[in-house]
Amino acid sequence: MKKLVCAILTMIFCVCSACVLAEEQLVPPEVHWNFPVPLTDIQSKYALLVNADNLLEKSFEPDPLIKVTGIKRATSAAVYLEETAAEALKAMFEAATFVTEYSYVTETGKTKVMEYDEGGMVLFLKSGYRSYGTQATTYANYLARNNNVDDGYVAKPGSSEHQTGICADILNDDYASRPTMTQDFKWTPEAQWMKENCADYGFILRFLEDAEKETGIKFEPWHFRYVGKSIASYIMAEGITLEAFTVQAKEAMDDFLSRGGDVDEQMAYEYKKLNRPPESYVLNEFGEDGDAEVSLVF
Ligand SMILES: [Zn+2]
Repeated sequence: MKKLVCAILTMIFCVCSACVLAEEQLVPPEVHWNFPVPLTDIQSKYALLVNADNLLEKSFEPDPLIKVTGIKRATSAAVYLEETAAEALKAMFEAATFVTEYSYVTETGKTKVMEYDEGGMVLFLKSGYRSYGTQATTYANYLARNNNVDDGYVAKPGSSEHQTGICADILNDDYASRPTMTQDFKWTPEAQWMKENCADYGFILRFLEDAEKETGIKFEPWHFRYVGKSIASYIMAEGITLEAFTVQAKEAMDDFLSRGGDVDEQMAYEYKKLNRPPESYVLNEFGEDGDAEVSLVF
């Protein structure tokens, strides 16, 4: 019996020692990254800011770009998205189908409960990737319809997030069959559910109400932008725009560097901490061949 107790105690000791050793191996860099969102995510391509002041090149195309299938669409045309954003979107659409009832606020301020049948809440993808050329046509057509007035509803070519392939316009059944999208979509249970849950799938509501000064685009309760889960959770919890987030992230980076922080070291630490495999990042530097340099972090 004594031997058995000794053996168990020895085993516990060994396991604990191994835990301590494993903990000890993961030493954070001396200069701490203080911002609540990991540096790795801030450096990722999904943190890209596109607006009238930050234009995309005419030649920019999402990679890899895939045709989104297996979900309901509010258009007869095929819709394309960047692969990771497409997968996240499908996960959100699928999660919606498990919603059997949802309480939402109506235009008159009343709380109502929407009950769904077996299929649950159904979302409809209206649009995703739009090329520079398509956006130029959309913009010109809109101006022609709108007495040549640019009222901020349609983005100028190069300033549309739709060119990134990581955002989507999403509607419900009712709005999917309407000729135009209108802001009162926000009073639907689908719009409110998406706003409440989009961050779980890495999306943000991109053009917030009363944030036109910051974004340059009027409130669009249907437009969701993929930024990855950590950035999305932060932005949606803070209720800020991607523009404001980008400023905060830049300030955090400036502060980190001024304290002597090492970007590669911090990112390597984050990878180890999350036990993620190494990932490559396209740097804002170009080699002699004109191709962007890639940094591989282990
Ligand atoms: Zn949109």
